[in-house]
Amino acid sequence: MRKKFIAGNWKMNTTLDEAVALAKDVVKTMGDTSDVDIAICPPYTSLYAVSEVLKGSTVKLGAQDVHWEAKGAFTGKVSCAMLKSVGVTYVIIGHSEQRTYFHETNETVNKKVKATLAAGLLPIICVGETLEERKSGKMDAVIESHTVGAFAGISAEDALKCTIAYEPVWAIGTGETATPQQANEAHIYIRKLLTKLYGTSTAEQIRIQYGGSMKADNAKALLGQSDVDGGLIGGASLKASDFAGIVKPV
Ligand code: PEP
Repeated sequence: MRKKFIAGNWKMNTTLDEAVALAKDVVKTMGDTSDVDIAICPPYTSLYAVSEVLKGSTVKLGAQDVHWEAKGAFTGKVSCAMLKSVGVTYVIIGHSEQRTYFHETNETVNKKVKATLAAGLLPIICVGETLEERKSGKMDAVIESHTVGAFAGISAEDALKCTIAYEPVWAIGTGETATPQQANEAHIYIRKLLTKLYGTSTAEQIRIQYGGSMKADNAKALLGQSDVDGGLIGGASLKASDFAGIVKPV
């Protein structure tokens, strides 16, 4: 039985004070939840302060990206060791906004996954098709290339430390949600790909979150599907009560 995992992706929102206040609200509302794994992913600038707020709670800290190199002349980038030093557990990798705006490719995703695992951090790997790709029948091929690309050279043992977030790009921040059936079909397909790569036993243990306008009022139906093991939440993670509304019906 896969334990549900809900993660909040705050994106480029919250100043330091706002992030600390939001993290305090999350801890107050959900800080002792143990039947669901919870993580929040603030911007880099607030990671350390938020890690202090999360101490003693069950809520874990995530980062929104990482660079694969260990150190050096990479202006603007942040390494795994830096993230670890401020209390990070999870790292979102390959988000569609990174793929669309910042030249993220399957190759860079794979490098980041490898570096993250080598550092003892846990990747949340985003995969998913655009509306155009879905409409032109390329959905399966895109999901396959994202998934197979991300896991290239990753052992089954390490694959178990990864979470996949299926995020149809057309549903991110748009208010459009995949129907529970559409989401589950995609998740079952991803699990088939994982089965091909690692065998049934490993594939059955890897959690696959859904992401794309998940909110309190649609969470229950989505999370009730056989292969939807949680959610990666953008907009609805910016208010603790909205976020709690997603965590609570699990
Ligand atoms: C996301 O960016 O990962 C996301 C799912 O955003 P939203 O919930 O706002 O659609």
